[in-house]
Formats: sequence, C-alpha cells, structure tokens
Amino acid sequence: MISTKNGTIEKFIQLAKKRNPHQPEFIQAITEVAHSIIPYIEEHPEYEKTNILERIIEAERIIIFRVPWTNDNGQCMVNRGYRIQMNNAIGPYKGGLRFHPTVNLSILKFLAFEQVFKNSLTTLPMGGAKGGSDFDPKGKSDNEVMRFCQSFMNELYRHIGPNTDVPAGDIGVGGREIGYLFGQYKRLSNKFTGVLTGKGFAYGGSLIRPEATGYGLLFFVEEMLKTIGEKIKGKKVVISGSGNVAQYAIEKTIQMGGIPLTASDSDGFIYDIDGIDKDKLAFIMELKGVHRGRISEYAKKYNVPYYKGEKPWKIPCDIALPCAVQNELEEKDAKLLVKNKCKLVAEGANMPTTIEAIKYLQSKNILYAPGKASNAGGVATSGLEMSQNSIRLSWSRNEVEDKLQHIMQNIHNQCVHHGEKVDGTIDYMKGANIAGFVRVADAMLAEGHV
Ligand code: NDP
Repeated sequence: MISTKNGTIEKFIQLAKKRNPHQPEFIQAITEVAHSIIPYIEEHPEYEKTNILERIIEAERIIIFRVPWTNDNGQCMVNRGYRIQMNNAIGPYKGGLRFHPTVNLSILKFLAFEQVFKNSLTTLPMGGAKGGSDFDPKGKSDNEVMRFCQSFMNELYRHIGPNTDVPAGDIGVGGREIGYLFGQYKRLSNKFTGVLTGKGFAYGGSLIRPEATGYGLLFFVEEMLKTIGEKIKGKKVVISGSGNVAQYAIEKTIQMGGIPLTASDSDGFIYDIDGIDKDKLAFIMELKGVHRGRISEYAKKYNVPYYKGEKPWKIPCDIALPCAVQNELEEKDAKLLVKNKCKLVAEGANMPTTIEAIKYLQSKNILYAPGKASNAGGVATSGLEMSQNSIRLSWSRNEVEDKLQHIMQNIHNQCVHHGEKVDGTIDYMKGANIAGFVRVADAMLAEGHV
C-alpha cells in the first residue's frame, strides 16, 4: 500500500467499502483509480480541499425500476432495469446499456465510474453513465426482445434526452436492441432526436460506430508498439470474445497485417493456428449477429481445436486483447502470457484484467493498457454520432475513421504525458487515470459544490 501524506489509500478504500457494501466490482474500479489519483491529489491541494475524489465516487443519480414484459407464451415476466447517472461535469451523461443475467448495481456502478474517466480522455463533451438490466437476450425471440426493450424504455425515457443522458449499447445490446429502444423513445416523446447512439445508419447512426471500439483498440495498440519501435504487422494476437468488440478487433488486426489466433464466448474458445482470415471472420459475424450461435461451430466448420470452458490466454502470442467481460484475465493467466513471451496486453473489454494480474504484468514490464484508454474509441465515435445528429449531417467512413484514429493517438499522448516514468517506460493506468481525472475535477471545481 502506498503511504500518502495525510494517511493511506487504504483509508479511502475502507470508507468506499463502508458506503458501498457488497459491491466488489465497484470497489475494484475505485481501488485501481485511487492508487494513481490520491498521490496526485496530494500534490494538488485544490482537489484535496474540495473533496473531489469522494464526490466522484458518489453517483449523481441512480434509477432502479421494474421491467415487466410478456413472453411468447403469454406469461408476464419481470426484470430489473437500471440507469446510473454518475457524473455530468463535462457533458450530458453518456454510457452503454448492458443486458445480461449477471447485471447488478455493483457491476453497473463500476462501469459508470470507469466511463467518467474514459469519456473525459476522449476530450469530447460527455459525462459518464451506465445502465441495463438482468434480462438475458440469449434464447429469446426477436418479438420477446422487442417487447422487453419497449417496456424498458417506458420507464427510461423520462430520464434521458439528447442534452441530458444519451445511452448506447454494451454486452447484449447491439443494433437490434438499439433500434427497438429508439423506436419506443420516439413514440413516447414524439421527438426524433439523437437520444441513443449505435443507431442504424438509416435512422441517424454514424458510419464506423459498430467498428469503433475494436478499430480504436488496434489504433491504440499500434501507438503502444511504436514506443518500443515495433508494429502489429506479423504479430500473433490472442483475442477473447466474439461479440461486437472482438469482431472488429479481429478485422483491424487482419487489416494491419497481424494474425488473430483465437475467439471465444462464455462456453469456450477456438484456436485457429493458421489465423482467422476475412472469410472466417465473416462466418463469425454471421454466426453471432444473425444466427446467435456458439463459437464451437467455428471449430466444426474449420476443423480447428475447441477448448470447452477455457480461456485463450494459454495460447502463445505477442499481443493479448481481452474483449469479452470483466475479470476474465487473472494472475495465473498473466503468468502464462509472460511465460509464453507476450509483450503487450490491451483491454477491449471493461476491467477484464484483475488487479493482481495487472500488478504482475507491470512488474514484468509488459506493455499494459487499461480499457478506459484503449477501448475509448467506441464512446468517442458515439460522441461523433451525437455531433452528426446535432448538425443533421452524416460524415463519410474515411472522415469518421480518421477522427477516431486521431482521438486514439491523442488518448495515447495523454497517457504518456501523465504516465511516463523516469526510466522512459509508460504506466498507462496511471496516465489514463490522471488525465481523465484532471478534466472532470477542474470542471467540478469551476461548477462549485454540485
Ligand atoms: P457483445 O454482447 O457483443 O459480446 C460479448 C462477448 O463476451 C460475447 O462473445 C460473449 O459470449 C462474451 N462473454 C459474455 N460473458 C462472458 C463470460 N462470463 N465469459 C466469457 N465470455 C463472455 O458485447 P461487446 O462486444 O459490445 O462488449 C464486450 C466488452 O467490451 C464488455 O466488457 C463491454 O463493456 C466492453 N466495451 C464495449 C463497447 C462497445 O462499443 N460495444 C465499448 C467499450 C467497451 P456469449 O455469446 O457466450 O455471451
């Protein structure tokens, strides 16, 4: 534990635990941030005097609501809906909706908290939020998903708006769900506005938004590699997940000349020693996006090994990109990666690496990027979607992709600025936390005790 001038980081974490009992993921996210920010705050008394960090970990508003819906057998089902409006110091609340049976207050608060820093890093005017439900879209018909989304929006619509709170997708919420949510919002409010991002192109979406998180991740990785004079070309890349982020991380890896070796879902992973190429990726996209099938079907189709119930970190690689879910890369996985000579880990998912695993990677001088920096391309392009909606224009693919690349380079520069160590190596976690914090904290200072 780092000793600080006025006590210890542990004291702050104990206080957070007391105020947020039984919320391990939220405390994990706070702990990661506290280690970088508290020493910084102690060098900047203006933040200390005004209790900025204590205020930042307290959500501005939490909305919890009942979501009743009718299944195809005519039975009334009920789920729980949430929206965590964490911080709007620098812009309207912004952050995705997650539909997954594991969703609870702790997970959404950790995601909303991380989102505050991530959105700040993009330098776009977006506050932080997150929401969702314990509803599981898996195995549900399109009509069931539609009825659920409509009921969810029946409550959510009164809390959001293009200048108030602009939700987007996350796990379990893709183009289909955003379409149903948008349709219901429009019906209830009688307004066609940019109230959600990740919309289809036909009704106000941005080109490159579906690709943005995965593409942005690879742009960030390229910047990290530049610091050691290397490139993605020719590198073996192990990727987890097979959803939105993983698919486009695979696509950009291929475009940049890297070799994606794996894809996974919650049942297991496939290992394609020849590399996942464009045609095989098209199969994954159709399998997951249209048939909503399992990744094991890839193994059958292409006759490659499938590891049931396992994660891909034991496959030797140069680069590891966790793109599925929180805490999917543990210390034992980090040890395997290091043993197999992996030199870079960058997070596509939110908080996929445990604190112990991060410590281990950093102790071995592995380049490590936290999701709040390396996966910020998704929300950045959501910000660009909001801009296009406001000016009622659509930018071309190239225009959006160029802006995305520029934003990712800028985030990398901010990490270097605040995270460069005396030996010239970069602590991306520290850099991202401080850079994200400063903008929000300065806005909060200027806005008074709000
Ligand atoms: P999707 O729903 O499209 O895909 C999620 C993927 O993760 C699926 O392959 C899913 O498998 C897998 N998964 C879910 N739970 C588990 C589990 N317990 N163990 C292993 N695999 C699991 O979501 P996204 O791709 O959009 O999101 C992935 C991650 O990226 C999340 O952490 C999200 O918060 C983060 N993120 C997403 C952004 C975006 O723009 N979409 C932006 C920034 C971050 P299965 O099919 O079995 O459920």
